[in-house]
Amino acid sequence: METASHCQCECGAASFSVRGAPLMRGFCHCTICQAFNEAPFADITLFRRRDVEMPAADSVAYRNYASPAMLYRGKCVKCHKPAVEYMDFPLMPDVVIVPTGTISNQAIVPSPTLHIFYDKRQQDVDDGLPKHRGYLASQCAFGWHLLKALAKK
Ligand SMILES: [Zn+2]
Ligand SMILES: [Zn+2]
Repeated sequence: METASHCQCECGAASFSVRGAPLMRGFCHCTICQAFNEAPFADITLFRRRDVEMPAADSVAYRNYASPAMLYRGKCVKCHKPAVEYMDFPLMPDVVIVPTGTISNQAIVPSPTLHIFYDKRQQDVDDGLPKHRGYLASQCAFGWHLLKALAKK
């Protein structure tokens, strides 16, 4: 039986639930993630789209920042904190990105496996995880980790 976990933005207006275990977790240091999260890097956990009960449409404002293409980033309309992000790209796996800190049941959160866009970092991270630099290497590493996770689940 799969358990449901609750996720919500800082104020709680954008809330939703996820089922089962996430696919993977990683850190993104790209400048868009830095701005979007108002943090040196993003700590993100990925779920299959079908495992996510998306928040009410009027509680989240989505924006496409063009890079990476087809990634829609949603912020709560009330507190303007990150709520959820989703990819809408033909032939790509349907995944939803959840800011790790918004998951209430941290027991389901997996260990992170990589850093991407590390060349854009605001701070060094000494955690022994692979660090990928540059657009192509970062996208490839991320895609590879995601495909491996999808194959396992
Ligand atoms: Zn909020
Ligand atoms: Zn990023």
